[in-house]
Amino acid sequence: MSSFPEQLSDRYRRFKHRLYMPNAEQYEELAAYGQSPDVMLVSCCDSRVDPETIFNAMPGELFVVRNVANLVPPYETGGKFHGVSSALEFGVMNLRVKHIIIMGHSGCGGVKAALDMSTAIQTEAHFIRSWMSMLDNARLRVLSAHQMSPQAEKLAALEKEGVKTSITNLRTFPFVQQLEERGRLSLHGAYFDIATGTLSVLNHSRNEFYPL
Ligand SMILES: [Zn+2]
Repeated sequence: MSSFPEQLSDRYRRFKHRLYMPNAEQYEELAAYGQSPDVMLVSCCDSRVDPETIFNAMPGELFVVRNVANLVPPYETGGKFHGVSSALEFGVMNLRVKHIIIMGHSGCGGVKAALDMSTAIQTEAHFIRSWMSMLDNARLRVLSAHQMSPQAEKLAALEKEGVKTSITNLRTFPFVQQLEERGRLSLHGAYFDIATGTLSVLNHSRNEFYPL
């Protein structure tokens, strides 16, 4: 039988002592009255891009969904297991979040896999291939606009294009579309550069990312 990783047990005890105890009242309140975050955030699984750390958030403040390459799929009711769509439905309809942020990042392994698929068809990585096919059109746009660019530039362009694709997909959900039209929900794109710690935000009218 494998034992629970010791380093995590130690870190948990440290958390309990240094973070939980001083904020015990806040945790108790959250437990008693439930969560009411204003912000929902879709981020990558990547261990270097942690939304709570980046936004210095306390428990109860961010409703976070993490998946490979921070993607929101288009609205569709076929199939049974819709993790992102369920979270979206809950966040928007029940929690009534006011903002949804899609946060992409530099050096994304998922986006890199999507970019590489144009040259080498991968027979393994079935789930990732299928998941990343959401960026098929975005990849074609990036490849035609950046034909002469180095690979790193193409990757960064597709990472940002992926954020825009997810925002477009968000608007295919009827409840998102309705609330956005009524001005009760705002959609945002963000991009975190790991090497510099720079967070850039999507300017919708210019369709470009600008550093904060
Ligand atoms: Zn990633």
